[in-house]
Amino acid sequence: MNKETLEQNYRAVTANIQQACKRSGRSPDEVGVIAVTKYVGIETTEAVLDLGVGHIGESRAQEAVPKWEALGNRGTWHFIGHLQRNKVKDVVGRFTYIHSLDRFSLAQEISKRAAQKEVTVRALLQVNVAGEESKFGLSPEEVVDFSREVAALPHLTVAGLMTMAPHVPNSEEVRPIFRELRALRDKLDTYRGASEKQLELSMGMSNDYEVAVEEGATMVRVGSSLVGRER
Ligand SMILES: *Cc1c(COP(=O)(O)O)cnc(C)c1O
Repeated sequence: MNKETLEQNYRAVTANIQQACKRSGRSPDEVGVIAVTKYVGIETTEAVLDLGVGHIGESRAQEAVPKWEALGNRGTWHFIGHLQRNKVKDVVGRFTYIHSLDRFSLAQEISKRAAQKEVTVRALLQVNVAGEESKFGLSPEEVVDFSREVAALPHLTVAGLMTMAPHVPNSEEVRPIFRELRALRDKLDTYRGASEKQLELSMGMSNDYEVAVEEGATMVRVGSSLVGRER
């Protein structure tokens, strides 16, 4: 994608987020944009970083590692895709955040690899709010207990909650999903107590990020409407 188009897209996304913040009485400072670069190569990913976007999201370890090797010293990297246990060693040490923690065996492996690399991974619990068969994630009922269990692991901290809403033509339809994740976040914050930092809410993609921002997203994961699709 050429730089001009990329810049226009980024300006549009930023303006849309500002509008959504205005509509919902929020400050745009509360919303971070994660540029999802899984559709594009190293060159476009570099152009994204050149725009000043500080957060990069990737969903497949095999493709993300070479990109990280080229550009990992720039920006903060977020692993957002389903993560297999045998790929954890490639992700930990490179990615600051993992948005797809959905089972205890994965949490154990992350903590173990993080200990070896002397880092602490910030994990977001993926929640399958809509209960879709095709999606990964904890059910909303499991989240509180699960977060307590993983809190005992030394090299992993629970940094927030993540969801993927069903892909529907009218993004208004997924508003209740985002609202439910937010309520779950607030509940978890209450359990954790005031001394802990408020948990992040990673929700909203190209199709629905404006609604997600209105419902309290602190991280939106925007791919195709920012970088297009090279593959
Ligand atoms: C691909 C992906 C995105 C970005 O999707 P777009 O619709 O292209 O913005 C966001 N989150 C996750 C988990 C993804 O896999």
